[in-house]
Amino acid sequence: MSRESVAEQGYFGEYGGSFVPDDLKIVLDRIGNEFHRYKEDPEFLEEYRYYLKEYVGRENPLTFAKNLTEQIGGAKIYLKREDLNHTGAHKINNALGQILLAKRMGAKRIIAETGAGQHGVATATASAMVGLPCTIYMGKVDTERQALNVFRMELLGAEVVAVDKGRGRLKEAVDEAFADLVANQNDTFYLIGSAVGPYPYPEMVKFFQAIISEESKKQILEKEGKLPTAVVACTGGGSNAIGAFANYIEDEKVRLIGVEPAEAPSISEGVSAVFHGYRSLILLDEDGNPKPTNSIAAGLDYQGVGPEHSYLHATGRGEYVTATGQEALEAFQQLSKIEGIIPALESSHAVAHAVKLAKELNKDDVIIVNLSGRGDKDVNQVFDMLK
Ligand SMILES: *Cc1c(COP(=O)(O)O)cnc(C)c1O
Repeated sequence: MSRESVAEQGYFGEYGGSFVPDDLKIVLDRIGNEFHRYKEDPEFLEEYRYYLKEYVGRENPLTFAKNLTEQIGGAKIYLKREDLNHTGAHKINNALGQILLAKRMGAKRIIAETGAGQHGVATATASAMVGLPCTIYMGKVDTERQALNVFRMELLGAEVVAVDKGRGRLKEAVDEAFADLVANQNDTFYLIGSAVGPYPYPEMVKFFQAIISEESKKQILEKEGKLPTAVVACTGGGSNAIGAFANYIEDEKVRLIGVEPAEAPSISEGVSAVFHGYRSLILLDEDGNPKPTNSIAAGLDYQGVGPEHSYLHATGRGEYVTATGQEALEAFQQLSKIEGIIPALESSHAVAHAVKLAKELNKDDVIIVNLSGRGDKDVNQVFDMLK
Protein backbone atom coordinates (compact mmCIF):
# COMPACT_ATOMS: atom_id res chain seq x y z
CA MET A 1 0.00 0.00 0.00
CA SER A 2 1.42 3.40 -0.88
CA ARG A 3 1.96 5.90 1.88
CA GLU A 4 -0.63 8.22 0.35
CA SER A 5 -3.38 5.62 0.41
CA VAL A 6 -2.51 4.68 3.99
CA ALA A 7 -2.69 8.32 5.08
CA GLU A 8 -6.08 8.71 3.35
CA GLN A 9 -7.47 5.99 5.59
CA GLY A 10 -6.73 8.17 8.58
CA TYR A 11 -9.43 10.68 7.64
CA PHE A 12 -12.97 11.05 8.94
CA GLY A 13 -14.28 13.71 6.58
CA GLU A 14 -11.93 16.66 7.05
CA TYR A 15 -10.79 15.41 10.47
CA GLY A 16 -7.97 13.08 11.46
CA GLY A 17 -4.91 12.64 9.28
CA SER A 18 -1.27 12.62 10.32
CA PHE A 19 0.38 16.00 10.87
CA VAL A 20 3.82 14.92 12.00
CA PRO A 21 7.39 15.21 10.65
CA ASP A 22 8.26 12.80 7.82
CA ASP A 23 10.56 10.59 9.92
CA LEU A 24 7.80 10.06 12.47
CA LYS A 25 5.18 9.52 9.77
CA ILE A 26 7.17 6.60 8.35
CA VAL A 27 7.20 4.93 11.78
CA LEU A 28 3.47 5.52 12.31
CA ASP A 29 2.57 4.26 8.84
CA ARG A 30 4.41 1.06 9.62
CA ILE A 31 2.33 0.64 12.78
CA GLY A 32 -0.75 1.29 10.64
CA ASN A 33 0.23 -1.38 8.12
CA GLU A 34 0.91 -3.94 10.82
CA PHE A 35 -2.33 -3.11 12.58
CA HIS A 36 -4.27 -3.65 9.33
CA ARG A 37 -2.56 -6.97 8.87
CA TYR A 38 -3.11 -8.28 12.39
CA LYS A 39 -6.69 -7.09 12.79
CA GLU A 40 -7.57 -9.70 10.15
CA ASP A 41 -5.34 -12.41 11.66
CA PRO A 42 -7.45 -15.07 13.47
CA GLU A 43 -4.56 -16.05 15.77
CA PHE A 44 -3.99 -12.47 16.87
CA LEU A 45 -7.70 -11.93 17.47
CA GLU A 46 -7.91 -15.16 19.43
CA GLU A 47 -5.05 -14.02 21.66
CA TYR A 48 -6.72 -10.62 22.21
CA ARG A 49 -10.03 -12.33 23.12
CA TYR A 50 -8.23 -14.76 25.41
CA TYR A 51 -6.73 -11.96 27.51
CA LEU A 52 -9.94 -9.94 27.50
CA LYS A 53 -11.63 -12.90 29.14
CA GLU A 54 -8.91 -14.28 31.39
CA TYR A 55 -7.15 -11.06 32.43
CA VAL A 56 -9.61 -8.20 32.03
CA GLY A 57 -12.61 -10.29 33.14
CA ARG A 58 -14.84 -9.78 30.12
CA GLU A 59 -17.55 -10.02 29.22
CA ASN A 60 -18.74 -7.55 31.81
CA PRO A 61 -22.48 -7.20 32.60
CA LEU A 62 -25.07 -4.86 31.16
CA THR A 63 -26.82 -4.10 34.44
CA PHE A 64 -30.43 -2.90 34.55
CA ALA A 65 -30.44 0.14 36.88
CA LYS A 66 -33.83 -0.79 38.34
CA ASN A 67 -33.84 1.64 41.27
CA LEU A 68 -32.68 4.60 39.22
CA THR A 69 -35.20 3.81 36.50
CA GLU A 70 -38.05 3.62 39.04
CA GLN A 71 -36.95 6.83 40.72
CA ILE A 72 -36.98 8.72 37.42
CA GLY A 73 -40.09 7.09 35.98
CA GLY A 74 -39.06 7.42 32.32
CA ALA A 75 -36.89 5.34 30.00
CA LYS A 76 -35.23 2.15 31.23
CA ILE A 77 -31.56 2.72 32.06
CA TYR A 78 -28.92 0.03 31.58
CA LEU A 79 -25.29 0.39 32.66
CA LYS A 80 -22.46 -1.14 30.62
CA ARG A 81 -20.07 -2.12 33.36
CA GLU A 82 -16.57 -1.16 32.21
CA ASP A 83 -16.02 -0.29 35.88
CA LEU A 84 -15.80 -4.02 36.60
CA ASN A 85 -12.78 -4.56 34.33
CA HIS A 86 -9.40 -5.32 35.87
CA THR A 87 -7.88 -1.91 36.76
CA GLY A 88 -11.37 -0.42 36.96
CA ALA A 89 -11.98 1.20 33.58
CA HIS A 90 -12.22 0.72 29.84
CA LYS A 91 -8.62 1.82 29.15
CA ILE A 92 -7.25 -1.70 29.66
CA ASN A 93 -9.12 -2.98 26.54
CA ASN A 94 -7.01 -0.73 24.36
CA ALA A 95 -3.75 -1.04 26.29
CA LEU A 96 -3.99 -4.81 26.00
CA GLY A 97 -4.78 -4.77 22.28
CA GLN A 98 -1.90 -2.44 21.46
CA ILE A 99 0.57 -4.36 23.66
CA LEU A 100 -0.27 -7.62 21.88
CA LEU A 101 0.23 -5.86 18.54
CA ALA A 102 3.57 -4.44 19.78
CA LYS A 103 4.69 -7.94 20.71
CA ARG A 104 3.78 -9.29 17.27
CA MET A 105 5.73 -6.42 15.72
CA GLY A 106 8.80 -7.48 17.71
CA ALA A 107 8.90 -4.43 19.99
CA LYS A 108 11.27 -4.74 22.95
CA ARG A 109 9.96 -1.78 24.94
CA ILE A 110 6.73 0.17 25.37
CA ILE A 111 6.43 3.91 25.81
CA ALA A 112 3.39 6.02 26.64
CA GLU A 113 2.50 9.45 27.91
CA THR A 114 -0.01 10.21 30.60
CA GLY A 115 -1.64 13.30 32.08
CA ALA A 116 -3.52 12.27 35.20
CA GLY A 117 -1.88 8.86 35.21
CA GLN A 118 -4.80 6.57 34.40
CA HIS A 119 -3.49 5.64 30.95
CA GLY A 120 -0.01 5.23 32.40
CA VAL A 121 -1.36 2.74 34.93
CA ALA A 122 -3.23 0.76 32.23
CA THR A 123 -0.08 0.68 30.06
CA ALA A 124 2.17 -0.32 32.95
CA THR A 125 -0.30 -3.08 33.84
CA ALA A 126 -0.45 -4.54 30.33
CA SER A 127 3.35 -4.24 29.96
CA ALA A 128 3.87 -6.15 33.20
CA MET A 129 1.51 -8.85 31.98
CA VAL A 130 3.44 -9.49 28.76
CA GLY A 131 6.83 -8.86 30.40
CA LEU A 132 7.91 -5.84 28.34
CA PRO A 133 9.74 -2.91 29.95
CA CYS A 134 7.78 0.30 29.86
CA THR A 135 8.65 3.99 30.08
CA ILE A 136 5.92 6.51 30.89
CA TYR A 137 6.40 10.20 30.12
CA MET A 138 4.56 12.54 32.42
CA GLY A 139 4.75 16.31 32.81
CA LYS A 140 6.67 17.23 35.96
CA VAL A 141 3.72 19.23 37.30
CA ASP A 142 1.47 16.21 36.74
CA THR A 143 3.87 13.84 38.55
CA GLU A 144 3.64 16.12 41.58
CA ARG A 145 -0.17 16.33 41.46
CA GLN A 146 -0.54 12.58 40.89
CA ALA A 147 2.16 11.18 43.15
CA LEU A 148 0.11 8.12 44.05
CA ASN A 149 -0.40 7.15 40.39
CA VAL A 150 3.34 7.56 39.81
CA PHE A 151 3.96 5.15 42.67
CA ARG A 152 1.35 2.75 41.25
CA MET A 153 3.11 2.73 37.85
CA GLU A 154 6.45 2.12 39.55
CA LEU A 155 4.97 -0.75 41.55
CA LEU A 156 3.91 -2.23 38.21
CA GLY A 157 7.52 -2.06 37.06
CA ALA A 158 7.33 1.04 34.84
CA GLU A 159 9.90 3.80 34.68
CA VAL A 160 8.21 7.19 35.02
CA VAL A 161 10.07 10.09 33.39
CA ALA A 162 9.07 13.52 34.74
CA VAL A 163 9.26 15.96 31.80
CA ASP A 164 10.55 19.31 32.99
CA LYS A 165 10.20 21.31 29.75
CA GLY A 166 7.74 24.06 28.84
CA ARG A 167 4.79 24.06 31.23
CA GLY A 168 5.62 20.53 32.38
CA ARG A 169 2.22 19.15 31.36
CA LEU A 170 0.65 16.63 28.98
CA LYS A 171 1.71 18.43 25.80
CA GLU A 172 5.40 18.26 26.73
CA ALA A 173 4.99 14.58 27.68
CA VAL A 174 3.47 13.86 24.23
CA ASP A 175 6.40 15.63 22.52
CA GLU A 176 8.94 13.60 24.50
CA ALA A 177 7.16 10.34 23.69
CA PHE A 178 7.17 11.10 19.94
CA ALA A 179 10.87 12.04 20.11
CA ASP A 180 11.65 8.76 21.89
CA LEU A 181 9.70 6.81 19.24
CA VAL A 182 11.64 8.41 16.40
CA ALA A 183 14.99 7.86 18.14
CA ASN A 184 14.24 4.23 19.05
CA GLN A 185 11.90 3.17 16.26
CA ASN A 186 13.53 -0.22 15.72
CA ASP A 187 12.55 -1.65 19.07
CA THR A 188 9.93 0.71 20.56
CA PHE A 189 6.14 0.86 20.40
CA TYR A 190 4.23 4.00 21.42
CA LEU A 191 0.93 3.14 23.10
CA ILE A 192 -1.64 5.94 22.85
CA GLY A 193 -4.49 5.80 25.33
CA SER A 194 -7.43 7.46 23.62
CA ALA A 195 -8.97 7.68 20.15
CA VAL A 196 -6.77 10.69 19.38
CA GLY A 197 -3.39 11.37 17.77
CA PRO A 198 -2.25 10.88 14.18
CA TYR A 199 -3.17 7.91 11.96
CA PRO A 200 -3.44 5.01 12.80
CA TYR A 201 -4.29 5.58 16.47
CA PRO A 202 -7.92 6.81 16.27
CA GLU A 203 -8.87 3.83 14.13
CA MET A 204 -6.80 1.36 16.15
CA VAL A 205 -8.13 2.51 19.52
CA LYS A 206 -11.69 2.29 18.19
CA PHE A 207 -11.02 -1.26 17.03
CA PHE A 208 -9.83 -2.35 20.48
CA GLN A 209 -12.63 -0.51 22.32
CA ALA A 210 -15.41 -1.71 20.00
CA ILE A 211 -15.70 -4.80 22.22
CA ILE A 212 -17.85 -2.57 24.50
CA SER A 213 -20.65 -2.18 21.95
CA GLU A 214 -20.18 -5.65 20.52
CA GLU A 215 -21.10 -7.00 23.94
CA SER A 216 -23.76 -4.42 24.79
CA LYS A 217 -25.60 -5.01 21.52
CA LYS A 218 -25.79 -8.74 22.08
CA GLN A 219 -26.79 -8.18 25.72
CA ILE A 220 -29.55 -5.66 25.04
CA LEU A 221 -31.02 -7.86 22.30
CA GLU A 222 -31.14 -10.72 24.81
CA LYS A 223 -32.67 -8.60 27.57
CA GLU A 224 -35.03 -6.33 25.65
CA GLY A 225 -35.34 -7.96 22.24
CA LYS A 226 -34.60 -4.65 20.56
CA LEU A 227 -31.89 -2.07 20.08
CA PRO A 228 -31.60 0.83 22.55
CA THR A 229 -33.14 4.24 21.90
CA ALA A 230 -29.86 5.89 22.87
CA VAL A 231 -26.29 5.09 23.90
CA VAL A 232 -24.76 7.69 26.22
CA ALA A 233 -21.03 7.99 26.98
CA CYS A 234 -18.71 10.63 28.42
CA THR A 235 -16.26 12.12 25.94
CA GLY A 236 -12.72 13.14 26.84
CA GLY A 237 -10.41 11.96 24.08
CA GLY A 238 -13.35 9.85 23.03
CA SER A 239 -12.19 6.23 23.36
CA ASN A 240 -14.89 4.85 25.64
CA ALA A 241 -17.53 6.73 23.64
CA ILE A 242 -16.34 5.51 20.24
CA GLY A 243 -16.14 1.96 21.60
CA ALA A 244 -19.64 2.25 23.07
CA PHE A 245 -20.98 3.64 19.74
CA ALA A 246 -19.01 1.57 17.20
CA ASN A 247 -21.43 -1.30 16.64
CA TYR A 248 -24.47 1.01 16.50
CA ILE A 249 -23.19 3.57 13.99
CA GLU A 250 -24.92 1.72 11.14
CA ASP A 251 -28.16 1.46 13.12
CA GLU A 252 -29.46 4.91 12.20
CA LYS A 253 -32.32 4.80 14.74
CA VAL A 254 -30.01 4.43 17.74
CA ARG A 255 -29.12 7.88 19.09
CA LEU A 256 -25.43 8.22 19.91
CA ILE A 257 -24.87 10.82 22.59
CA GLY A 258 -21.47 12.03 23.74
CA VAL A 259 -21.35 14.01 26.99
CA GLU A 260 -18.54 16.52 27.33
CA PRO A 261 -17.63 18.33 30.52
CA ALA A 262 -18.97 21.89 30.32
CA GLU A 263 -15.48 22.95 31.51
CA ALA A 264 -13.73 21.34 28.48
CA PRO A 265 -16.31 21.29 25.64
CA SER A 266 -14.08 20.49 22.63
CA ILE A 267 -16.91 19.58 20.27
CA SER A 268 -19.50 22.04 21.52
CA GLU A 269 -17.15 25.05 21.47
CA GLY A 270 -13.98 23.99 19.62
CA VAL A 271 -12.80 24.95 16.13
CA SER A 272 -11.17 22.81 13.45
CA ALA A 273 -7.42 22.85 14.08
CA VAL A 274 -4.35 20.63 14.10
CA PHE A 275 -3.28 19.52 17.58
CA HIS A 276 -0.98 16.69 18.79
CA GLY A 277 -0.57 15.54 15.18
CA TYR A 278 -4.23 15.30 14.05
CA ARG A 279 -7.05 17.59 12.90
CA SER A 280 -10.18 17.80 15.02
CA LEU A 281 -12.35 20.23 16.94
CA ILE A 282 -10.00 21.79 19.46
CA LEU A 283 -10.52 24.34 22.21
CA LEU A 284 -8.38 27.38 21.42
CA ASP A 285 -7.97 30.75 23.10
CA GLU A 286 -8.04 34.11 21.25
CA ASP A 287 -4.40 33.73 20.22
CA GLY A 288 -5.01 30.30 18.74
CA ASN A 289 -3.27 28.43 21.55
CA PRO A 290 -4.81 25.41 23.31
CA LYS A 291 -7.13 26.81 25.94
CA PRO A 292 -6.64 25.64 29.55
CA THR A 293 -9.52 23.44 30.68
CA ASN A 294 -10.80 22.78 34.14
CA SER A 295 -12.93 19.64 34.45
CA ILE A 296 -13.32 17.95 37.84
CA ALA A 297 -12.70 14.67 35.97
CA ALA A 298 -8.99 14.34 35.12
CA GLY A 299 -9.74 11.93 32.26
CA LEU A 300 -11.95 14.50 30.51
CA ASP A 301 -9.69 17.52 31.04
CA TYR A 302 -8.33 17.75 27.48
CA GLN A 303 -8.59 20.40 24.72
CA GLY A 304 -8.91 17.93 21.87
CA VAL A 305 -11.22 15.07 20.96
CA GLY A 306 -10.90 12.06 18.68
CA PRO A 307 -11.42 13.05 15.02
CA GLU A 308 -14.23 10.56 14.42
CA HIS A 309 -16.34 12.36 17.03
CA SER A 310 -15.83 15.66 15.21
CA TYR A 311 -16.99 13.85 12.08
CA LEU A 312 -20.03 12.23 13.75
CA HIS A 313 -20.90 15.70 15.02
CA ALA A 314 -20.45 17.31 11.57
CA THR A 315 -22.64 14.71 9.88
CA GLY A 316 -25.27 14.82 12.59
CA ARG A 317 -24.95 11.09 13.31
CA GLY A 318 -23.70 11.83 16.82
CA GLU A 319 -25.24 14.24 19.32
CA TYR A 320 -22.87 16.03 21.67
CA VAL A 321 -24.02 17.73 24.86
CA THR A 322 -22.37 18.97 28.04
CA ALA A 323 -22.76 18.28 31.74
CA THR A 324 -21.21 20.50 34.40
CA GLY A 325 -18.88 19.33 37.12
CA GLN A 326 -21.63 20.06 39.63
CA GLU A 327 -24.12 17.88 37.73
CA ALA A 328 -21.54 15.09 37.56
CA LEU A 329 -20.91 15.39 41.28
CA GLU A 330 -24.63 14.99 41.95
CA ALA A 331 -24.90 12.00 39.63
CA PHE A 332 -21.85 10.47 41.36
CA GLN A 333 -23.70 10.56 44.67
CA GLN A 334 -27.07 9.60 43.22
CA LEU A 335 -25.83 6.41 41.54
CA SER A 336 -23.77 5.45 44.59
CA LYS A 337 -26.70 5.84 46.94
CA ILE A 338 -29.45 4.34 44.84
CA GLU A 339 -27.67 1.53 42.98
CA GLY A 340 -24.63 0.82 45.17
CA ILE A 341 -22.32 1.61 42.27
CA ILE A 342 -19.73 4.40 42.68
CA PRO A 343 -19.03 5.68 39.16
CA ALA A 344 -15.84 7.44 38.04
CA LEU A 345 -16.27 11.23 37.91
CA GLU A 346 -15.78 10.94 34.13
CA SER A 347 -18.62 8.41 33.82
CA SER A 348 -20.75 10.52 36.16
CA HIS A 349 -21.07 13.08 33.35
CA ALA A 350 -22.77 10.42 31.22
CA VAL A 351 -24.98 9.36 34.12
CA ALA A 352 -26.03 12.98 34.69
CA HIS A 353 -27.16 13.35 31.10
CA ALA A 354 -28.87 9.95 31.02
CA VAL A 355 -30.98 10.96 34.03
CA LYS A 356 -32.13 14.09 32.17
CA LEU A 357 -32.81 12.15 28.99
CA ALA A 358 -34.71 9.35 30.72
CA LYS A 359 -37.21 11.92 32.03
CA GLU A 360 -37.93 13.12 28.48
CA LEU A 361 -38.38 9.63 27.02
CA ASN A 362 -41.10 7.01 27.49
CA LYS A 363 -41.19 3.89 29.61
CA ASP A 364 -40.64 1.66 26.57
CA ASP A 365 -37.47 3.53 25.60
CA VAL A 366 -34.13 2.05 26.58
CA ILE A 367 -30.91 3.96 27.36
CA ILE A 368 -27.49 2.34 27.64
CA VAL A 369 -25.03 4.37 29.70
CA ASN A 370 -21.40 3.42 29.31
CA LEU A 371 -20.03 3.31 32.84
CA SER A 372 -16.44 3.84 31.71
CA GLY A 373 -14.86 3.37 35.13
CA ARG A 374 -15.31 3.01 38.86
CA GLY A 375 -15.11 5.91 41.25
CA ASP A 376 -12.83 4.54 43.95
CA LYS A 377 -10.00 6.66 42.52
CA ASP A 378 -12.18 9.76 43.00
CA VAL A 379 -13.44 9.24 46.54
CA ASN A 380 -10.68 11.38 48.14
CA GLN A 381 -11.31 14.21 45.70
CA VAL A 382 -15.08 14.11 46.23
CA PHE A 383 -14.51 14.05 49.98
CA ASP A 384 -12.52 17.30 49.70
CA MET A 385 -15.09 18.88 47.37
CA LEU A 386 -18.04 18.10 49.61
CA LYS A 387 -16.32 19.24 52.80
C1 LIG B 1 -9.60 8.17 30.76
C2 LIG B 1 -11.01 8.01 31.15
C3 LIG B 1 -12.05 8.61 30.41
C4 LIG B 1 -11.80 9.53 29.27
O1 LIG B 1 -11.16 8.98 28.16
P1 LIG B 1 -11.93 8.64 26.82
O2 LIG B 1 -10.83 8.36 25.87
O3 LIG B 1 -12.75 9.83 26.43
O4 LIG B 1 -12.78 7.46 27.08
C5 LIG B 1 -13.35 8.36 30.78
N1 LIG B 1 -13.65 7.58 31.84
C6 LIG B 1 -12.68 7.00 32.58
C7 LIG B 1 -13.09 6.17 33.74
C8 LIG B 1 -11.35 7.20 32.26
O5 LIG B 1 -10.39 6.60 33.00
